[in-house]
Amino acid sequence: MSADAPLLEVRNLKKHYPIQRGIFGGEVGRIRAVDGVSFSVERGETLGLVGESGCGKSTAATTMLRLEEPTDGDVLFDGVDITEYDDRELKRFRRRAQMIFQDPTSSFDPRMSIGESVAEPLRIHGMSDGNRRRAIVKDLLERVGMSGDDIDRYPHEFSGGQKQRIALARALSVNPDLIVADEPASALDVSIQADILQLISDLQEEFGLGVVFISHDLGVIRDIADNVAVMYLGEIVETGPTEQVFDSPQHPYTRALIDSIPSPNPRERGMAVELTGDVPSPANPPSGCRFHTRCPEVIQPEGYDFEQSAWRSVMNFRTKVTTRQIDLDGIREFVIAETDVTDPEDVTHDQMVDAIRSDFDIPDTLSDPEAESVLSDALERVVRDEFDEASASLAEAFETVCATDSPDMVRTEAGHSASCHLHDQSVEVEPGERIAQSDD
Ligand code: ADP
Ligand code: MG
Repeated sequence: MSADAPLLEVRNLKKHYPIQRGIFGGEVGRIRAVDGVSFSVERGETLGLVGESGCGKSTAATTMLRLEEPTDGDVLFDGVDITEYDDRELKRFRRRAQMIFQDPTSSFDPRMSIGESVAEPLRIHGMSDGNRRRAIVKDLLERVGMSGDDIDRYPHEFSGGQKQRIALARALSVNPDLIVADEPASALDVSIQADILQLISDLQEEFGLGVVFISHDLGVIRDIADNVAVMYLGEIVETGPTEQVFDSPQHPYTRALIDSIPSPNPRERGMAVELTGDVPSPANPPSGCRFHTRCPEVIQPEGYDFEQSAWRSVMNFRTKVTTRQIDLDGIREFVIAETDVTDPEDVTHDQMVDAIRSDFDIPDTLSDPEAESVLSDALERVVRDEFDEASASLAEAFETVCATDSPDMVRTEAGHSASCHLHDQSVEVEPGERIAQSDD
């Protein structure tokens, strides 16, 4: 144990799930649910972990607590690697680090009274005096805004919000140092979400807890977290003090998330940069920067002069050509529906090309003649079902660093860290280095 080590430090944590096929269950691929994340949490501090559904937040939570074994990486608690704990140390760790789940109903045994449930961790960790347990449980219930008289009632008698309060009482019963709360309010009525978040905030202050607070909602994170880590497809793309990240977001993904927070001011609504494209699968993440298939600010290749929105559209087209996700029959049917043509045989290449252009929001002609010539050639090849050739020529002419190179996590001019090629000149940050705060 080291006195000045952070309470929790996660270094390059990975969790891959094998994809198995066939009768012998051979591994044919891996889902890279968490693919090298690093962050740290101090005592008394809340780290907000945020990202779209499926980006690996829950997997990060369960592996950092060793509820699931990590595939790789280190998790240091008080400076000691928890992956090397023996059984006794692991039991002690289980007391000191508690998890709160999204669905409060599934975390209670319906046959156990609230008192028994809340007292269970105390019993497991060796408190044998039943009267003392009862006194502690009553006190805890009151601290989370319930009544001590609730102690003999059963889970079905309580609402979701009340159950989440009771789950907090149970987590606190063993006097933990760290709480990992995985979307603790998302399953609850909107009207009571704020109460639960406030309660967590109050308890954190009262007990001096370190908290990892997980949410897909950046608005919630802004209210509750001291530091924030933004996750995309198994990786952290930006991390820093909450205020700094909100005032000066350094990663295009963070900017897009912030833009999508509903604004109470109607004049600011509708200005959001919309994210295009599907969320890629963590079994087959995009090359280079994983966000490049959707990034509104994807970097243009040298030598071209695009309008950024046209460039994004061309990149969307390129992605779909590469993954063969352009449905020529569907496009032919679309042309038939939209024009006088009735026989599929009569649909011309030009009509197909126009339909694809409009489907991808690509202008009729690109303002850069050289780019236009590459694009129209590729469109023609796609219509002739020559996807490989089209894909190769698009890759050659429209290569972007975003698709070829994976960006390093660097300290940006704003003072906090992000991994984006727009910051390639900044200083690289090693995994495990404290990156949530600036130097001063
Ligand atoms: P989040 O909590 O951010 O919504 P998860 O951590 O639940 O994301 O999931 C991340 C990715 O890992 C998803 O693609 C999910 O389908 C996959 N995944 C999660 N758990 C498993 C599992 N036990 N086996 C296989 N894939 C999983
Ligand atoms: Mg989750």
